[in-house]
This record gives sequence, C-alpha cells and structure tokens, in this order.
Amino acid sequence: MTTSVSYDASRPIDDRYLPPDCDELQAVRDVLDDGRLSGGAAVLPLYERALARWFGVPHAVAVNSGSSALHAALVAFKTGPGTEVIVPATAPLPTVMPVLTCGATPVVVDTLPGSLALDPTDVERKLTVRTRAVITLPLWGYPANDHRLAALLAPTGVPIVEDACQAHGTEIAGRYAGTLGRVGCFSTHDRKLLSTGEGGFLLTGDRELAARLDDYTHLGHLRGATHGVNYKLAGPLAAIGLRRLEQLDAQITQRRANARAILDALPVDGRLRELHSANGDQPNYYNLVLVAESSPALIAAELAASGLPPDSVRYGYRPLHKQPLFRAYATECPNAEMLAATTLQLPCHPGMSPETIEWVARRTAAIARRGT
Ligand SMILES: *Cc1c(COP(=O)(O)O)cnc(C)c1O
Repeated sequence: MTTSVSYDASRPIDDRYLPPDCDELQAVRDVLDDGRLSGGAAVLPLYERALARWFGVPHAVAVNSGSSALHAALVAFKTGPGTEVIVPATAPLPTVMPVLTCGATPVVVDTLPGSLALDPTDVERKLTVRTRAVITLPLWGYPANDHRLAALLAPTGVPIVEDACQAHGTEIAGRYAGTLGRVGCFSTHDRKLLSTGEGGFLLTGDRELAARLDDYTHLGHLRGATHGVNYKLAGPLAAIGLRRLEQLDAQITQRRANARAILDALPVDGRLRELHSANGDQPNYYNLVLVAESSPALIAAELAASGLPPDSVRYGYRPLHKQPLFRAYATECPNAEMLAATTLQLPCHPGMSPETIEWVARRTAAIARRGT
C-alpha cells in the first residue's frame, strides 16, 4: 500500500463528492426519448414522491435551486418589503440572499454558546409584529436546534424555515433536519450530498402550504389566479436526482465512518475536538467540524499548508454581518463570532480513499498535538 502522495496548499483535497456511477446516463436518455425535458416531464412526480418517502414527510416540491426553495418558502409566509426575517449570524450568503430578494430586512440573531442553534433569548428580543419567518441553519450538516425556540414561536404563529441545504440526512432527536419546521429547504447543487448539478426541493407536512409552494414555483400553473415564478426543475436533472437518491444512505454511512476514523485518531488532551451535538443527534458530515481550543488561526494555517484549508480559507467564510452586503444589519453576536473564528471544516466524503482518510487522520492528530 502506498501512502507516499504528498499534499500541499496548492493542491487542496477536493471537498466535492462525485458519486459513483448509478446509471444516470440511462435515466437521462429515458427523459430524452420521452421528449419532454421541462419541469412537466413524467419523472418529476416520481422524484418528488421518492424525496418525500426518503425523508418521511407527506410533501416534496422539486425546484431549480436551494435559493429558489428558500425564496418560495419566504414568499409563502408573505415576506415582502416592510417585513423582517430572523437569520442566524452564522449564515453564509446564500441563506440570506433570498430575504433581500423578497425586499425584506434580515434581522441577525446570535447563536447559543458553542452551538449553531439560534439563541431563543436573542430571538425573543428581536421578534416584532413585522417578523414573517425564523430561519434555522444546520450548517455543515450539524444539528442547529433548540427546543425552546419552537415553544417560544408557537403562540406567535411565526414559522420556522429550515435551511437544510447542507443537511440531507442529519438526524435531530430521531428526525431528519428539514422536517422539523413548517418547511425545509434543500439544495442539490454539486457541492451538496445529493447533486443534480443545480437544483433543490422543499419538504413540508402541511398540505395547503405544499399546494401554495407548488403553485408559486410553477407560474401559478398558468391559471391566472395567483402570481408565480418559474422555478421548475428540468426533467433530466430530476432523473439524475432520482437515481442518486438511492445511494444517499450508503454515502452518509461512509461519511460517518470516515469522520469517526479522523476523530478517533485525535489526542484526548490536544487542541482540537469535534463541534458538540446533543446526545443521539447525528451530523451527516457534509464536513467534519473541529473546534480549536487554542490558537485557531495558527491551526487553520497549518491545516491549509497541508492541503486541508478550512472554509474560512477555502471560501472566505465569516459571520454574516462581517460581509459588506450585510454590515448594515450588524448587531452584537459574540457567540457566533467565536464559533466562526474557532471552527475548522475538514472534508470526509466517500470519494476520499481509505489511505487519504488515514493520512488526514494522522495529519490532523499531529496538528492537534502540537503546542500541547
Ligand atoms: C447551497 C446553499 C444554499 C443555496 O443553494 P443553491 O442551490 O446553490 O441555490 C443555501 N443555503 C445553504 C446553507 C447552502 O449551503
């Protein structure tokens, strides 16, 4: 067995996962043969039913992106100019762009210490009569829930919209992320666990809401009764999604095993530990997220030099209100800022060979040990 491959910052380990061939080509050919390539293709309802079954919810609506899913969900709750949407300060840009698309005001809320969950006390402080929705965000596939939030919102009628774009298969209290709020929004962009190139879908248990989402994203089905947009997913992409959905379970199992191998190699008293999840909750390991107990910037640089750049280096990830576009909405969010400054994301997808995972485990352990 050779482990002589050398990694460096100029050749970072790819964090995209290319699923193994699952006969997508034949599925696309079937759509081509049928001749209907649009969102009206016969495969669309099959794909939507398969999604609903996989996640164990009554309704799924396929759309052309995660951004479209979020926008459609916000519109369904009458988000528009003069209204507000509560968002976590940990949110990356695509979570909050749809709020601006609605012409609404994003209200940035802090997370709980060491967690991706919204701080219920800060939510309570910032709720107004103009609040149309609260977006929760299981970022990097890590649970981001706090049961007090649902209890706080119940009497107000303000819905929780889950941005589960990175959280396909993340388990929270025995349920899947994206099935806990009024509506869950998913992306099937290339970087996500289920990829159709571009694409997305919405999940909900509410029949009337599902019908409204379907109507809005399909131009009101051209009945001329309601306003809508064209967010339909094209047939060939739905066919690819339907095929790839079959390997999602196995992919998540492998991601969890890979993450476990890297975590098991970490020294118990080192500088790195995993981001905390509640007992029984399970990340889908979109990324393995480590927290630096000390010297986070130095550790990030060491990882990057090894070809393992964290998101802050790879994508310039930072808290929302540190982005120029959202600076005007800045409030004090010390917990989210601390989380963003101390978390380090590692790839652990099944496209990485056992040798590569072993190498990442040894490298990360060595970096965690240094300085202790
Ligand atoms: C990818 C992503 C989106 C947007 O999805 P697109 O399909 O790229 O539009 C939104 N939120 C989060 C957290 C994402 O990761």
